[in-house]
Amino acid sequence: MTTTDQDRWSRVRGRLRAEIGDDVYSSWFARMELEALEADTVRLSVPTRFLKSWIQSHYTEKVLACWQAEESKVGRIELTVRTAVLRSAIAKPKAPDLIDQRDGHGPRLNGGDARGNITIGDAGGHEALGGSPLDPRLTFESFVVGRSNTLAHAAARQVVAAKRGDPVMFNPLYIHAGVGLGKTHLLQATTWAGNAIGERKVLYLTAEKFMYGFVSALRTQTALAFKEALRGIGVLVIDDLQFLQGKSTQAEFCHTLNALIDAGRQVVIASDRPPSDLESLDDRVRSRLAGGLVVEMGSLGEELRLEILKSRVTAARLHHPGFDVPMAVLNYIAKTVTHNGRDLEGALNRLLAHNKLTGHQVTMEMAEREVRDLIRPQEPKRVKIEDIQRVVARQYNVSRSDLLSSRRTANVVRPRQVAMYLAKTLTLRSLPEIGRRFGGRDHTTVLHAVRKIEGLVGNDIALAEEIEILKRQLQD
Ligand code: ADP
Ligand code: MG
Repeated sequence: MTTTDQDRWSRVRGRLRAEIGDDVYSSWFARMELEALEADTVRLSVPTRFLKSWIQSHYTEKVLACWQAEESKVGRIELTVRTAVLRSAIAKPKAPDLIDQRDGHGPRLNGGDARGNITIGDAGGHEALGGSPLDPRLTFESFVVGRSNTLAHAAARQVVAAKRGDPVMFNPLYIHAGVGLGKTHLLQATTWAGNAIGERKVLYLTAEKFMYGFVSALRTQTALAFKEALRGIGVLVIDDLQFLQGKSTQAEFCHTLNALIDAGRQVVIASDRPPSDLESLDDRVRSRLAGGLVVEMGSLGEELRLEILKSRVTAARLHHPGFDVPMAVLNYIAKTVTHNGRDLEGALNRLLAHNKLTGHQVTMEMAEREVRDLIRPQEPKRVKIEDIQRVVARQYNVSRSDLLSSRRTANVVRPRQVAMYLAKTLTLRSLPEIGRRFGGRDHTTVLHAVRKIEGLVGNDIALAEEIEILKRQLQD
């Protein structure tokens, strides 16, 4: 693949992000990569089966359209799950591919009998309930601690250090942070370290794996066998809980959570939002989740970003001794590139690729050119949703409770849409959160409102001006 293909891909991503908005983009596309561009086919990959099926069923056409806008010859998108590399790197040599859908009866665990039962024995229980693959690079050694993650790191260390039978200090440990801020890194580090000590078996599952593997195995168990299987697990780690979907899965998740916690086993969870914002979970689960230790990891500060970059360069130099990045360039990247750890990694990878392909040393000029699209936009001023509702209500002469109500008369519908639009553009709140703050509306309603207003301001000069005035009032 050429660098021009990668350039095209980054322009396609730009289009996609502009079309669907930052939130949706980072939920589903942040980890999509271009594998190849061959004739009329674009091959893309994502890290999980779940992302693949979700994107296929919801976004294929959009992705295709964005590609076609860049490259008219493209006629087909092929999406694959990239796990091969990680699979071969798992410590356990014979990790089976646990999910088998060939029989057409839905997911099922291999290693059980024909009816999908899992073997229960002293070791058998958790062997059959295998975990998700781990990335060998995501360890505590490579995790850089800074102000934004001190508490989460300390809590994870505490989980690793605890012995079997010790009283559990906090349960569950619930870590939340935005995309690319180190949740998966910390969770996998915990898993590696815990299993290296061997005191308690640590099982790492993505929410996807939990849904498609673990839960379906549990479904076939009797209450007694279920308890028996859980005995093998000392610490259950679940990543990306926001992806957990479906009523029955949630019931089983709740059941598992309660059983483990009541048995004094540690549960560690990561999600992109706090428990209170997991709209699809019912109240009891949410309060159970909030009942342990809830820690937020903030965005990576500049110092932390610099340290991460340095440790990345050191790691890269093991394989590429000629790779050298001047301190000034590292400072520049740490200062300008977004808070997202993935973008930092991406920036260094580009420098490395450029250095390898052209043989040119890394210079400031090269860095500026290569990372241009990863540069962080100016942070918006913090505006509160209440303020938006108040100012909009005043402007349109309706009450704030009208905006939150379910009334659909024209004189409240438009102001409500304007207010939601402003909430989306002036705050960092997610669509579901905004929906919740507007009288418990669905995130699709918010998305609809945002699109509606976006569409109108292009043609309606009066509305565009009104919105400008509202923005100025809110931001001054
Ligand atoms: P998340 O799961 O929160 O989306 P990841 O754990 O996948 O984020 O992190 C994204 C990238 O940033 C990874 O390459 C990870 O190693 C790196 N990263 C994030 N935080 C740190 C940190 N504190 N120290 C070292 N690397 C980090
Ligand atoms: Mg993650």
